[in-house]
Amino acid sequence: MFRKVVLSAALAAATTVVTPLTGQASATEAPPTAAAVTVYYDTSSAPTFASAIRQGAANWNARVSNVKLVENRSAATLRYREGNDSRGSYASTDGHGSGTIFIDYTQARQYYVTRITAHETGHALGLPDHYSGPCSELMSGGGPGPSCTVASPNATEVARVNSLWANGFAGTYEWKVIYEQIPVHS
Ligand SMILES: [Zn+2]
Repeated sequence: MFRKVVLSAALAAATTVVTPLTGQASATEAPPTAAAVTVYYDTSSAPTFASAIRQGAANWNARVSNVKLVENRSAATLRYREGNDSRGSYASTDGHGSGTIFIDYTQARQYYVTRITAHETGHALGLPDHYSGPCSELMSGGGPGPSCTVASPNATEVARVNSLWANGFAGTYEWKVIYEQIPVHS
């Protein structure tokens, strides 16, 4: 069983007015804007999901202005891995661009994989889970169920990430491991 969540009209409306701040150019080529911090990531240990990881990163890059995700194995602070884990997918991260994101095969078969990668990337950018949120909210993760294919942050999530990254790398960050609590369907 899992909760059904009614899409919030306000959130849906807010989502439609999000204007991409940068293009969807290849993450390996697009230079960051002067104000943006760059987070380098590595997909080499998650080959099955490399394209979904890149798309998830592109979805963030298209909307946030203060941080930019760029694929670069040698410079990476954020690494993606894949495999089987009974605890599911997880993000082990300081919430500021460093850590490991693990994509679980079972969850990737059940849920829209780009939503999973973009959601986990959201943890690396500092956002917590909010499973009770609507499908339009990326950090509601598996809460709205497997049919949800939204893989981009909504306006509220974009604003929060821009705020968290407004001062670049200043400050210290607490590491945590976030295992995804995917609802079991009966
Ligand atoms: Zn999560």
